[in-house]
Amino acid sequence: MSEQTTIPFNITSFAGETADALVKVLDSGWVTTGPQTAAFEQDFADYLGAAHVIAVASCTTALELCLRALDLPPGSAVLTPSLTFCGAINAILHAGHRPVLVDIDERTLVPSPETVAAAAARVRPAAMIVQNQGGYPVDVPALTEAAGLDRTRVIEDAAHGPGAGRDGRPVGADSFAACFSFYATKNMPIGEGGAIATSDPELNDRVRAMRLHGMSKDSWKRYLPGGNWRYDVKRAGLKANMTDIQAAIGRAQLGVLPGWQRQRAELVAGYDERLAGTPGLVLPQRELDGVQHAWHLYQVRVPDRDAIIEELAAAGVSTSVHFIPAHQMTLYREVLGAEECATVPVTDRVGEELLSLPLYPGLSADAQDRVVSALAKALRARS
Ligand SMILES: *Cc1c(COP(=O)(O)O)cnc(C)c1O
Repeated sequence: MSEQTTIPFNITSFAGETADALVKVLDSGWVTTGPQTAAFEQDFADYLGAAHVIAVASCTTALELCLRALDLPPGSAVLTPSLTFCGAINAILHAGHRPVLVDIDERTLVPSPETVAAAAARVRPAAMIVQNQGGYPVDVPALTEAAGLDRTRVIEDAAHGPGAGRDGRPVGADSFAACFSFYATKNMPIGEGGAIATSDPELNDRVRAMRLHGMSKDSWKRYLPGGNWRYDVKRAGLKANMTDIQAAIGRAQLGVLPGWQRQRAELVAGYDERLAGTPGLVLPQRELDGVQHAWHLYQVRVPDRDAIIEELAAAGVSTSVHFIPAHQMTLYREVLGAEECATVPVTDRVGEELLSLPLYPGLSADAQDRVVSALAKALRARS
């Protein structure tokens, strides 16, 4: 067999217009939060059909800002899946609250109304973070009701959300607070960045000030003609603003996102077709009725997962795992305690089997064939 290059787990693509857009920002003399950020917020709000969008430094900081904006008593119980990114749990800790774990439904890999209700029965929650694992849009109203919470206490971790929707409404269109990520590997990559979409004008005002130290006016507004040097601070915000450099990239990327989403859907159909019937393999399940999946990840379940990752790597196929359940990590085990960690048995069982295959715009049919045959070979050896 000839020497083959390794298929990476992800390649970050940029729209053709990105370089020009960047040069314009650099030439403009204004690179931090300013006109490009405002325009990106409007573009992303239009894309989602959301009332307000606040651009920030990351999804992690977006989650923390939203939690802080709720002004909950310190140490409040916040429901969260354990099958999530560590940053989402850290946001709860940094906001001064207590993560309370919710188990998943093994078909969708997200909490169900039943698992949310079970967690809410253990601990009366003050708030909840829900997450669109892999691009599967959760049913936010159903989970909100199951938690016994008002919609103004539910924050969506929509890091995997761009491109996803329910009944024709994009994730974030009707949200009290949906937090997006533009990290390099996400469906709408800027490199780094995040945004909050909200239907709530008051949350919009609060978070907008809190993303830049809590200042009543950002510096761009103060320097505008007729602007004034004076500003006030009413609450301690974070340094969590997006720069115009990021925003210019984001505006270019948004233009090509729909085409990328179509490519993802085609690649998923390709995986489904080629992998169907492979012994020992569980393909991603989904309730597709009325659901627009964003296909951020193609997550399969395999036996002997850790060894299979090694075998795939040796065959030149890079894969990943989303996620190591948070409660299995040192810090969260300490913070949560053994009893709390024992409340998510499905997450423990399924978390051992999850494997994310390469999925990104530009992944070739040949590369996909190589992923499929390497995986089929590893599984055949075990059946
Ligand atoms: C990537 C990710 C985040 C964090 O996004 P950043 O923009 O890097 O802070 C949060 N939650 C989930 C589920 C993620 O996958």
